[in-house]
Amino acid sequence: MNISTRKRTGVTMSGLAAAAVFGLYLATAAAPSVSTAYAEAAPELSPVKARARDTYYPNTEDLTPDEMRVIACGTGMPTTRMKQAAACFLVELGNGDKFLFDAGSGSAERISALQIPYNYLDKIFIGHLHSDHFGAVPEYWIGGALMGRNQPLRIWGPSGRIPELGTAAAMDAMQQMFLWDITGRVGNVDPRGYKLEVNEFDYKGENQVVYDENGVVIRSFPAIHAIDGSVSYTLEWNGLKFVFSSDTYPNQWFNKYAKDADLAIHECFIAVPDIVNKLGFTPESALLVGTQIHTAPEAFGKVMSEVKPRMAIAYHFFKDFDTTAQVYKRIRKTYDGPLSLAEDFMVWNVTKDGIRERMAVVEESTWSPPTTRPNVAPSKDDRGKFAKMKGLPVEAIGYSDFIANGKWNVDDVLRPIYQEASEAVGREFPYPSDK
Ligand SMILES: [Zn+2]
Ligand SMILES: [Zn+2]
Repeated sequence: MNISTRKRTGVTMSGLAAAAVFGLYLATAAAPSVSTAYAEAAPELSPVKARARDTYYPNTEDLTPDEMRVIACGTGMPTTRMKQAAACFLVELGNGDKFLFDAGSGSAERISALQIPYNYLDKIFIGHLHSDHFGAVPEYWIGGALMGRNQPLRIWGPSGRIPELGTAAAMDAMQQMFLWDITGRVGNVDPRGYKLEVNEFDYKGENQVVYDENGVVIRSFPAIHAIDGSVSYTLEWNGLKFVFSSDTYPNQWFNKYAKDADLAIHECFIAVPDIVNKLGFTPESALLVGTQIHTAPEAFGKVMSEVKPRMAIAYHFFKDFDTTAQVYKRIRKTYDGPLSLAEDFMVWNVTKDGIRERMAVVEESTWSPPTTRPNVAPSKDDRGKFAKMKGLPVEAIGYSDFIANGKWNVDDVLRPIYQEASEAVGREFPYPSDK
């Protein structure tokens, strides 16, 4: 729209006033900073032109080369519910890289709703090994591979005080737990996505670099939560800094290494009275869990007053009409800076110029988009290779005669499906029992 168009529509306005209104309108449309200041004039409205969006619709917005987009894909508690999955934050960068920080139970459904091809979702950074922070890893691993991530899933996570309590041991045990699952897929699908690349690092490392690729540097530092072996992360790219606490009691490392953050995400627990009244904890247990294992709202505020991020983000509480006021009121006793109380599908677009906070609106029936790297067909050798790698008898991969002999012969209706595919693709797909 320009001035002449406006004159044609009969709206008159001095150039100066128009510029002021346009300036405000454009600023709102592009990337408004989160601010409590009132706008000085209402933005121009039109009955036929779209207004600035205050909602994020997945797969409808490009990221600019200097922009970071963060989406909350889980902000709740170990008991996941329709409204809130457990901890998971997606970071998308203008260079094309995407990272998951924590992969809590229930978060994979949120990720699927964002319409991102799964082969872009191959990097997960785990803060600690509570189920509400890594419980969805099997879904990203197996479901992600099936939905097109035809490259290994890369996992980063801390060591434990003893090897048995570290990320590598947990991932080994997970692969053992899912041995039947993976064995049953060998020879049927592209096998490449079922590999895991596990990067375990020292949980005591202070501001240690755990990832440095493509201009993105991710560092870890210790967190204090439950037992040794919890960490927090910073991600720095292009002059922007994202910080994720995972779970922690307030600690000196976060105060030090989260400084200068654009987004500082820190856990914040439900207020103690609500832990007693709504979760049914005893007061003794609520005080311990709500103030000593986790970060109480008052303590969250104190941390953020020390760190002074451009935006402080609190998560890890059931965010409801009857819990949020308590959390907010208690944070505000100790912190008066920019604040988001996170819930699932909250979105932050971050540039040097502003931080824009919105909610995503998602479509439940979305499928993940097709892979951007072609899949390869399974090979006859896959089962032999897998059996050797796992030390399994190759005949265990497949059906015994006992089970195979229980099949009811429906070849007459399946054979035409092979013929149909052969004609459609222009290549012969022999029917299995004819090979
Ligand atoms: Zn935890
Ligand atoms: Zn937790």
